[in-house]
Amino acid sequence: MSTSTLRYDGRVAVVTGAGAGLGREYALLLASRGAKVVVNDLGGTHSGEGASQRAADIVVDEIRAAGGEAVADYNSVIDGSKVIETAIKAFGRVDILINNAGILRDRSIVKTSDQDWDLVHDVHLKGSFKCTQAAFPHMKKQNYGRIIMTSSNSGIYGNFGQANYSAAKMGLVGLANTTAIEGAKNNIHCNVIIPTAASRMTEGILPDMLFNELKPKLIAPVVAYLCHESCEDNGSYIESAAGWATKVHTARGKGAVLRPTIEDTVTPEYVEKVWSKVTDMSQAKHLEAIAHASGSLLEVLENLKNGD
Ligand code: NAD
Repeated sequence: MSTSTLRYDGRVAVVTGAGAGLGREYALLLASRGAKVVVNDLGGTHSGEGASQRAADIVVDEIRAAGGEAVADYNSVIDGSKVIETAIKAFGRVDILINNAGILRDRSIVKTSDQDWDLVHDVHLKGSFKCTQAAFPHMKKQNYGRIIMTSSNSGIYGNFGQANYSAAKMGLVGLANTTAIEGAKNNIHCNVIIPTAASRMTEGILPDMLFNELKPKLIAPVVAYLCHESCEDNGSYIESAAGWATKVHTARGKGAVLRPTIEDTVTPEYVEKVWSKVTDMSQAKHLEAIAHASGSLLEVLENLKNGD
């Protein structure tokens, strides 16, 4: 294990939604360790209304006052190319992109309007895609990049009243999976952070006792490490809160064949008969790639043909 200080000298980082909460901590930490930072923030309300330059400006001032380098960007992440353009104009490159900007429009499924659905998806999912898409050619050219997608336990497990948000947050896991695959050959890594932190987003949602312990500052070092050149992870999902972190995986059971022989067809009755085996997770495994999933299907067919 290296004990040298992790520095970001010569690196340019774009942190979206960096005017408050988690994004602000990411920006402050990276800047304090030598990165030149684009502090992006639209500066609207937590439900995505309005705009203001104040949020980004305050964080840029904080960084400069501490001797760091930063510029503000006030674009919505939906205009990802403009966000990345700010980095190119100010600093000539982009090495790190932390897709963090977010809003909430919590409603039960029945009460979710098209606008509630669309705006939450636009900011979280499309915004992360547009920023990533704009940063990718620069990262490919320099053969280096570190990208973070921000998911949520609301997406992984679901949460009452967050259909729009949880769908977008799980969408970000899918986006990260493919970004990690497409970036790998150019040393562009993409990982997912699943944070829980006290911010205006969780005020009044998290119990008071938890809220006070969940400082965003405690998550920033995890994200900073994921964005360092020494971090080899690509395609990892890392949950972090309260000075704790863990990797999160998908798991696939052993499964069951749904017909007695290859000559038989599958019937609902046979599915019912073997359902406990279909849903048995005692031999579950994490698969690293889509090829492993399709590869194991070939094995199932082979076994069926052989009558195993
Ligand atoms: P926050 O509200 O404090 O910060 C979000 C920032 O994003 C705000 O400053 C806001 O102005 C900015 N923003 C919103 N829409 C934007 C847009 N279109 N373009 C640019 N900036 C925009 O919230 P936070 O808790 O720090 O959340 C940061 C991220 O972490 C979000 O993606 C959120 O969904 C995610 N998250 C947070 C928690 C938590 O417990 N706080 C849990 C899971 C996921």
